[in-house]
Amino acid sequence: MTATIIDGKAYAEGLCARIANAVRDLSGQGVTPGLAVVIVGEDPASQLYVKNKARQTVDVGMRSFKHVLPASTSEAELLGLVAQLNADPAVDGILVQLPLPKQIDAQKVIEAIDPTKDVDGFHPINAGKLMTGVPGLISCTPLGCLLLIQSVRRDLSGLNAVVVGRSNIVGKPMAQLLIAQSCTVTVAHSRTRDLPEVCREADILVAAVGRPEMVRGDWVKRGAIVIDVGINRVSNPAAGEGRTKVVGDVAYAEAAQVASAITPVPGGVGPMTIACLLRNTLEAACLRRGIPMPQ
Ligand code: NDP
Repeated sequence: MTATIIDGKAYAEGLCARIANAVRDLSGQGVTPGLAVVIVGEDPASQLYVKNKARQTVDVGMRSFKHVLPASTSEAELLGLVAQLNADPAVDGILVQLPLPKQIDAQKVIEAIDPTKDVDGFHPINAGKLMTGVPGLISCTPLGCLLLIQSVRRDLSGLNAVVVGRSNIVGKPMAQLLIAQSCTVTVAHSRTRDLPEVCREADILVAAVGRPEMVRGDWVKRGAIVIDVGINRVSNPAAGEGRTKVVGDVAYAEAAQVASAITPVPGGVGPMTIACLLRNTLEAACLRRGIPMPQ
C-alpha cells in the first residue's frame, strides 16, 4: 500500500481563498477583520513566522497590526499592550507569539487576552468551551489537523485515535476534537508504556512530540490515517556541510508504505496552522458583531 499524501498546502490555499471571499463580503458591510500579532525578542524563527502571518493576513484582505517589542520587555509592559489591544475595536484577534522571554509568565499573558479575541484558542475559557462542547475559538494546529483528517474521511465515529503528545497547544485540544467526533481516544506521552504497541491500535495516529522521525513504519496500523505535527530541524549532510532540513515526528517513507493517508513535512499540518488562525480571526470578527460566520 502507498498512502494518499494529504496536501496541507493545497488545502490551506483553498481555505484561505474561501476566507478571502468572506472577508470581501464583510468589507461590503463595512467590517474589515483585524489581527494583531505581538512578538517579544529577536528570535529569527519567530520573526519569520510572524512575517509570514502578517503577509497572509493582508493577502486575505484583513488588517494586520504587528507589534515588535524588545527582548527586555517587562511582563507589565506586555500586559499593558494586551489591555490596549483588548480595548481596540479595530482588533478582532490577538496573537502573542510564544515562547516569551523568561521574565514574562506566558500563562498570565494568555489569560489577559480577551477570550473573544483569543484566536490561538489558548485561553482557559476557550479550552474549557472545547472540553464542554460549547462553541468557542479552537486552537489552530489541532483544528487544522482535524480538517485534514476529515478531508480523507468524513465520518470518524467509532475509530481508534491515538494522539502522541499532551501539550496544551496541540495534544490535549486534538484529543478533545477527536472525542467530539466520537473517536475512542488515547493520549500518549513520554511516560506511556510500550508506545509502539499503543500506536499500532490507531486508525488515526497524530504525532505531536518534537522528536525527529520517532514514529516508525512498524508502529503504524495498516490503513491508518497519519497526521504528523512535528517540525524538527535536523542536519542534512547529503545537501552539503552545515546544511539542514525539516522533518516531522514520523519516519515518513516507512509510514507511507503502511498508512492509507499521511501528511508530509513540510507541506502538511504547517500551512494549516496559519490558515486556521485566519479562519479564527474571521470567526472572532463575526461573533463579536453578531454576524453569522460565512460557510
Ligand atoms: P511540547 O514539547 O509542548 O510537547 C511534546 C509532547 O510530546 C509532550 O506531551 C511529551 O510528553 C511528549 N513526548 C516527548 N518525548 C516523547 C517520547 N519519547 N515518547 C512519547 N511522548 C513524548 O510540544 P508541542 O506540543 O508544542 O509541539 C509538538 C511538535 O509539534 C513540535 O515538533 C513542534 O515544533 C510541532 N508544532 C508544529 C506546529 C505546526 O504548525 N505544524 C504547531 C505547534 C507545534 P510529556 O508531556 O510526558 O513530557
